[in-house]
Amino acid sequence: MNKTKEEHDKELKSFVIATLRRASYRWYSRTEALKNARVSRGLYKCESCGAVEKKANVQLDHISPIVPTTGWDTWDGFINRLFCEISGYQVLCSVCHTVKTRVEGELRKKNRQETKKKLDKTP
Ligand SMILES: [Zn+2]
Repeated sequence: MNKTKEEHDKELKSFVIATLRRASYRWYSRTEALKNARVSRGLYKCESCGAVEKKANVQLDHISPIVPTTGWDTWDGFINRLFCEISGYQVLCSVCHTVKTRVEGELRKKNRQETKKKLDKTP
């Protein structure tokens, strides 16, 4: 069965986003940012709460969310934020990263609902 143009475009966008995200794990700035957060062998400092954790318990966070809390903007914006400079990253412990991600997700959801409300009101 053929997909509609809309379904095809949505699938293509998801595929490209997932592929770029995977590639970004090998981005040099990411490696450098992690190195900068290393306090001793195998230990990294969370830039938010200061906890010192093993590598498995820290995550590299994009300070400026890859997809803005105001919603998707452009591919150029997405790519520039995803492959940011060293200063665009921060190392966070799992707890701090989860909190930040949740807050950003809630803001994104709220903004999406407000945009939808505005669109519904438009005659
Ligand atoms: Zn932390």
